[in-house]
Amino acid sequence: MILSGHGYFWVHARAYVRVFKQSFWYMSCNTCKKISSSDFNETYECVFCKFSHAVAVPRARVYLELEDSTGSLSGTMIGDTAEKFLQYTGQQIMDSGSQVLEKIRITLEEEQFFYVKGMKKNVLDNEYKYDIIFLNESVPSMSTSSTCTSSRTNKGKDIAYTTDTPMPLQG
Ligand SMILES: [Zn+2]
Repeated sequence: MILSGHGYFWVHARAYVRVFKQSFWYMSCNTCKKISSSDFNETYECVFCKFSHAVAVPRARVYLELEDSTGSLSGTMIGDTAEKFLQYTGQQIMDSGSQVLEKIRITLEEEQFFYVKGMKKNVLDNEYKYDIIFLNESVPSMSTSSTCTSSRTNKGKDIAYTTDTPMPLQG
């Protein structure tokens, strides 16, 4: 595939959650989205963005693998994109506790387009980590190809969350 390395690129791939010992959400600052050690809904001063009235909110996050016929990469989705993949909001995932794996989606067998940002894990080695920024059925037409990181849209807002149909317990 899979261009590895630094920068932004589209990948046409399937997606699988392979690591199940992850919580699929984290508590975050509602302003800068960085991690928070405060309790849900607590107002606090964020050490990252310095906002003195930040509120701790749950945000969806999933580590997953993208695969095509030639290879794979591991990456992280957060926020809207993670909710679109998991089909639950961060709040719903937090509330579901240990039941989370019975609810969320963990595979995406049909190939979709993922917009990926690759960056070095640290300056000294050649290992890269990947953020998966967008998930789309097709590549959106864009006037410029490389510097489109500011095009945050409301894509994903129109997906249907399965809020009121609890899955039956297995066994
Ligand atoms: Zn913050």
